[in-house]
Amino acid sequence: MASNNRRARPLGRLLTPTLYLEKIYDLPLEWLSDNSITSVITDLDNTLVPWRDYRVAEELTEWFNTLHKEGFKTLILTNARPSPTITKLSHSLNTKLVVGARKPISRFFREALMLLDSRPSETCVIGDQIFTDILGGNIIGCRTVLVERIGRREFLGTRIMRLFENVVRQHVNLPRWTRQQQKD
Ligand SMILES: [Mg+2]
Repeated sequence: MASNNRRARPLGRLLTPTLYLEKIYDLPLEWLSDNSITSVITDLDNTLVPWRDYRVAEELTEWFNTLHKEGFKTLILTNARPSPTITKLSHSLNTKLVVGARKPISRFFREALMLLDSRPSETCVIGDQIFTDILGGNIIGCRTVLVERIGRREFLGTRIMRLFENVVRQHVNLPRWTRQQQKD
């Protein structure tokens, strides 16, 4: 039993986000600077926009503008197939893009880090799925931020993964940001 526990713990860590937020707009810039983060990789569907709804809200433009003004580098890393709509969205947000990825496979995270010219230790990965965004980000050594999905509509494969994710969520710690955490 002990050996099972030893195996379970590292897996548990890989499935645990560094930080849990309701939405991207709650991301504290202090948390980024406290953790020496200079680059932000974000998922697209259900993290920045509702699934396959690639219209850009003003609030989203402002969020990216603020990050860029504060000196953060940004990139959207998505498993969605390449499309002119997604390219247009990344241009309008003035952010880099890796499309057609297969998260959690590390190769795509490494490609993102190369484009950002950033090390894992100075990068955070934000997304709404534990088995793609959080697992992939943790494997390569980035900080990870889990957010709640924006909408209920999802790809069928994603809906199936949610069943497993719901089980994981009952066992992993979802750390919230507090000012105390900042001092620790
Ligand atoms: Mg997503």
